[in-house]
Amino acid sequence: MRVYFGEKEEENSRMAVGKEVVEEIVKARTDKREYRRIVLPNSLEALLISDPDTDKAKLCAASMDVNVGAFSDPDGLEGLAHFLEHMLFYASEKYPLEDSYSKYITEHGGRTNAYTASEHTNYYFDVNSDGFEEALDRFAQFFINPLMSADATMREIKAVDSENQKNLLSDGWRMNQLQKHLSAADHPYHKFSTGNWETLEVRPKAKGLDTRAELNKFYEQYYSANVMHLVIYGKESLDKIQATVEDKFKGIRNIDRSCLHFSGEPCTSEHLQILVKTVPIKEGHKLGLVWPIAPEIHHYKEGPCRYLSHLIGHEAEGSLYAVLKTLGWATGLCAGESDSTLDFSFFRVDMDLTDAGHEFDKPIDYFAEHMQDIVGLLFKYISLLHQSGICKWIFDEKYPPRDWLVKSTLPSNFSPDTIQMVLNKLSPENVRIFWVSKKFEGHTNMTEPWYGTAYSVGKISGSMIQEWIVSSPNENLHLPAHNVFIPTDLSLKNDHEKANCPVLLRKSPCSTLWYKPDTMFFTPKAYSLFKSFLSAYYAEVAELFYAITQTDSGFQVTLVGYNHKLRILLETVVEKIASFKVKADRFAVIKEMLMKEYQNLKFKQPYEQAMNYTALILHDHTSPWMEELEALPHLQVEDLAKFVPLMLSRAFLECYTAGNLERNEAESMIQHIEDVFFKGSNLISQPLFPSQHLTNRVMKLEKGTNYFYPVEGLNPSDENSALVHYIQVHRDDFMLNVKLQLFALIAKQPAFHQLRSVEQLGYITALVQRNDFGIRGVQFIIQSTVKDPAHIDLRVEEFLKGFETKLYEMPSDEFKSNVNALIDMKLEKHKNLREEAGFYWTEISDGTLKFDRKESEIAALRQLTQQELIDFFNEHIKVGAPQKRSLSVRVYGNSHSSEHTTDGSSPVKPCYVKIDDIFSFRRSQPLYGSFKVNHVKL
Ligand SMILES: [Zn+2]
Repeated sequence: MRVYFGEKEEENSRMAVGKEVVEEIVKARTDKREYRRIVLPNSLEALLISDPDTDKAKLCAASMDVNVGAFSDPDGLEGLAHFLEHMLFYASEKYPLEDSYSKYITEHGGRTNAYTASEHTNYYFDVNSDGFEEALDRFAQFFINPLMSADATMREIKAVDSENQKNLLSDGWRMNQLQKHLSAADHPYHKFSTGNWETLEVRPKAKGLDTRAELNKFYEQYYSANVMHLVIYGKESLDKIQATVEDKFKGIRNIDRSCLHFSGEPCTSEHLQILVKTVPIKEGHKLGLVWPIAPEIHHYKEGPCRYLSHLIGHEAEGSLYAVLKTLGWATGLCAGESDSTLDFSFFRVDMDLTDAGHEFDKPIDYFAEHMQDIVGLLFKYISLLHQSGICKWIFDEKYPPRDWLVKSTLPSNFSPDTIQMVLNKLSPENVRIFWVSKKFEGHTNMTEPWYGTAYSVGKISGSMIQEWIVSSPNENLHLPAHNVFIPTDLSLKNDHEKANCPVLLRKSPCSTLWYKPDTMFFTPKAYSLFKSFLSAYYAEVAELFYAITQTDSGFQVTLVGYNHKLRILLETVVEKIASFKVKADRFAVIKEMLMKEYQNLKFKQPYEQAMNYTALILHDHTSPWMEELEALPHLQVEDLAKFVPLMLSRAFLECYTAGNLERNEAESMIQHIEDVFFKGSNLISQPLFPSQHLTNRVMKLEKGTNYFYPVEGLNPSDENSALVHYIQVHRDDFMLNVKLQLFALIAKQPAFHQLRSVEQLGYITALVQRNDFGIRGVQFIIQSTVKDPAHIDLRVEEFLKGFETKLYEMPSDEFKSNVNALIDMKLEKHKNLREEAGFYWTEISDGTLKFDRKESEIAALRQLTQQELIDFFNEHIKVGAPQKRSLSVRVYGNSHSSEHTTDGSSPVKPCYVKIDDIFSFRRSQPLYGSFKVNHVKL
């Protein structure tokens, strides 16, 4: 196949106007889709994708990229491009009803969103195939005739401001802006891009500017078909898609705007060779080294940054990270390109340091020693790369046969010169060092204006870094060895079994094994999950094992990858667990890391805090992180050494294997685990006693009662408050499930429209379903600085009252359309092995075991009448319904601390009950039955 895509030649596009381009676009061998590039008469360039898969419910999708972003914001109107992105969603002249685009998308089983980057603004959606044509028409109208009413413009500034409020205490946003701030003031990279009340309302007004007029001006100036790129993914034929696209998008005007280029470098000599010390919100020390480089996009076939990040970010023996880890100085390292545009880019290396690696026990005027050592070691590794030359075998190993199927997206030209060119940029003369730690609190002298980040800047010289290189520890840094885990056998198992859902292959006192052969994806991969139930309480120590996650009643090992070496990986992991010995130095580092993680929980977004409290109130066995944080400092190496054998002494395994594995291979893997733990002379484990099988059970809230739990936010400097308004409905049941899902689908967009677009309570406003171990419900999640959570709670109830009428008056075809959207979502097949394994594993680990869930729920939906949905609403959701069970968790931010003191103190309305103490409440409540009742039979 010959490839011309991506090499945009003026001549070519002219000739191709309105017609298909004859060159074929390269694609993976397994890819059955067809592709076509077209250019409309207005110069809009589009990529059309036709998916011949006969899957009826296949989602269709579109994405429009406009070549303009925050870099083009007018001076003094920071955030205008982003604000425009918000406004286009509201309405168009053809579809003037506010938010009707989003409503249409959700009603047809889809989602929509957008983002604004430096030089691009991107809009996208997916939707079921029935709704695709009209969705496209509504979408196209954003770019043809948007309607930005004065009223909506005024309101939506608040959403942008709330979005910024959410980011203010986030270290990611703060550090990103600091880097921009410390760059050339006349380069657009320097600017603040999100916008807030100040930049979009207060300042323009003071200057006599009308923000709405500025929005229109910006739109007129920059939105032009010739700088837009459209991608369409549909199920129709390419010809049919092309006709639709030509029809819907031909109306976008073309002013032949030139492509944006921002000349000049964001970092000139005064912004290089600097050491910036800065104070984060969260605990933890970080060290980042950043170099300006040429953007990789111009060398995507050679992939120089990918080659270098593979080596600098390597974790095997001899790598920089392995050395730092051995020294006990770092707990994480990543390297790669970032913040790239067509005109400039950066290569960066970021490290998470331990207290020892940070070591700040010297007078403040001196650089702490280990920072110098770490920078010295990094430059040593870079000079090792210079000395070793650019190696072909490393390039080849990085893109081996296993990646043939996706080769078209991978670098394919080995070009030592290009890699060397980027490597040369990673020099002491070009570096910017960002050193982040709370230890710098009180020792900085400057403040970044948009986020208020405290920092100070010092100059460093090339000779200083040379000294650091010389004095850094003499560790053996070397290139990685050849990788033995690369599979060489990529064959597919011949006898594909016809099992459409998992079968219980094996059951013993120590384990169950569920098995699902690959009947869909035909790739040489397999998935293996096992969950180990333990007889002890302190399961969080399981965090110590690599690739192991903690669960509610033990730990879980997930192995996924090419089946050829999966067995070796399994044996390695099992061996590691069985022969686990605590290493004192690793223990100290991991304990420190865990402490910081716990300490940082108080900096979580208030809505996340509210969700944590909700889980704490609802789940029987959950313990609050504050208690774990209190226990942690007392934990010693000996405690863990004693605990691990105890933890493993009684155990039960629940296993699931799927993919390119035969029955006997799956069985033999589990047999191997059993042999290691439950057999042999030094018996590690015995089966759990019947009484020891732990399950997490869920509180059954009382009917007709509205519980509420008011609590102060954990971070006193966070202005944001949050509310989770949870309505508990039922224990897993197909008919009730679909009624609940349908309610959530129908109410989602109206809730967003009312509570966010109209009332502007806050940027984070959502109505989502909730499933706690098979106990189903819905929850409103809202974060706000403008209103306190008790007030928002009332607004949610007010919304539900209004929604009641809407439900009664809903035309029957609208009801039908929603039912069909839900059916279509369920008809959609799993896209890959991971998605399929996730679905079945949830059924297995929750104990619900309803592998035919989708089919049964579709059947239930086909029977459902509108009246039944109304009855369901009246019984479970409606405000004041006698059957209704609800819980409101109200987290008060510092802008509402006075409202917190009064919440629940005055006599509360009948049917409202305040929860004072979560644990007394939990002890006093009945529980739903668990699904984990060991009823599975072979
Ligand atoms: Zn936004």
